[in-house]
Amino acid sequence: MSGLALGRELALRGREFAVFEAESQPGGVIRSERRDGFLLDWGPQRVRLTASFGALVDDLGLQDELLLAPPDLDPFIFRDARLRQVPLSLRGFLASDAASLGGRLRVLLEPLTAGPRDDESVAAFFTRKVGREVYQHVVGPLYGGLYGSDPGDMVVGLSLGRLLRDMGIRRSLLRPLLARGGGLRQLPACSFVEGMQTLPNALARALGDRVRLSTPVRTIEREGGGWRVILDRESLPAEHVVVTAPAPAAATLLRRVAPEAASRIATLRYNPLAVVALRSETPLRGLGFQLSLAESRPLRGVTFNHNLFGEGGANRRGSGRADRTGLYTAYLGGWSHSDVVAVDDHSLGQLAAAEFRRCTGFPAESIAAVRQVMPAWDRSWSALENLRLPRGLHAAANWESRPGLAGRLAQARLLAESL
Ligand SMILES: Cc1cc2nc3c(=O)[nH]c(=O)nc-3n(C[C@H](O)[C@H](O)[C@H](O)COP(=O)(O)OP(=O)(O)OC[C@H]3O[C@@H](n4cnc5c(N)ncnc54)[C@H](O)[C@@H]3O)c2cc1C
Repeated sequence: MSGLALGRELALRGREFAVFEAESQPGGVIRSERRDGFLLDWGPQRVRLTASFGALVDDLGLQDELLLAPPDLDPFIFRDARLRQVPLSLRGFLASDAASLGGRLRVLLEPLTAGPRDDESVAAFFTRKVGREVYQHVVGPLYGGLYGSDPGDMVVGLSLGRLLRDMGIRRSLLRPLLARGGGLRQLPACSFVEGMQTLPNALARALGDRVRLSTPVRTIEREGGGWRVILDRESLPAEHVVVTAPAPAAATLLRRVAPEAASRIATLRYNPLAVVALRSETPLRGLGFQLSLAESRPLRGVTFNHNLFGEGGANRRGSGRADRTGLYTAYLGGWSHSDVVAVDDHSLGQLAAAEFRRCTGFPAESIAAVRQVMPAWDRSWSALENLRLPRGLHAAANWESRPGLAGRLAQARLLAESL
């Protein structure tokens, strides 16, 4: 997505470029496939339909492919042996059983607390802001869950701080919410009929032969005042080279031309995740659930595809899809249980189904499993402080700036503008 998004922005500006992708299909971690009558997404399941994302969908002619999730779905937290709904409005949250009465009321003191400090951990920041209980059981898992990381090992200035700055939050998290009527929910989540891979496929199609699939870049060399990109059977001169590969591959590519930067990039930690598609029938209705940080389990969380885009959700643009009905996606592993990804698919499926049953009370059957990795955005990101690349070399990747799809698109725009 980082490479394709940048390619699109350069094309819009009339620049000459080529995007090299090692794999035979575009999308990187964004991968959709049909199996056993289900449409499975192994990477991102959804993205918020912001104005700029909507414009991209329109430009690529994907309007008829778009699926919108129902706007009223809340997440759940598994804590003390049962799922608890976390309403995404202050009034709803205060009336919920997501935390004890004291814990919920403590959240109201948040506007009186100081703003983020770059040197504190994300855990310390949230604890200071919303109190220990709501941090540990609600906010910590919902935020850390995005990365499979321990918020105690994430540093505000290296991770959350960037998001807060982009959102214009300097002191209170709650005040902007209250100004908007107390709700967190603003924009609907969306996907596509054939899954999230529709997006990179359409971008690659639009860029035509400027995207070269099955073409790994082997290394980069200096050439005069510019660069030479070395492929398997040819090499190409370039004025600028943008590395959009994951950190380990980026470090290899930069080793000869920027050895100091390469050795720092190589130290970034990734969290291994196992993603297991499950079939189940439950009356639950929501976005999905995460486990409280007090639950040290191999399961990190589950997405309810059934409610997002299946018939359990009654899609806003008509009825839900049969190919997501009864579908749930479980995420296992992360910082605390990284070993789980090493077990075979059958055992992984059984483990995911057992964990699902333990949390929801409903049996589930495994459909298929894959392994993924997530940049941890933890303390190891201090290696990137004041990182400098030689003139004409750039990085634009999910380890370099905000990893969500919206962040990838925004970064591509910024970099294309400066190039
Ligand atoms: C399981 C999971 C769930 C997620 N859920 C969400 C979500 O719900 N919403 C959201 O917004 N974001 C989500 N994300 C994050 C988001 O999907 C990723 O951060 C983003 O897609 C990463 O894009 P990228 O292009 O930076 O990296 P990648 O997708 O890793 O792409 C890097 C590409 O570089 C290629 N490559 C590597 N080495 C070379 C080489 N030498 N030569 C040529 N090509 C090379 C690889 O083949 C790959 O295609 C999720 C991520 C994961 C893993």
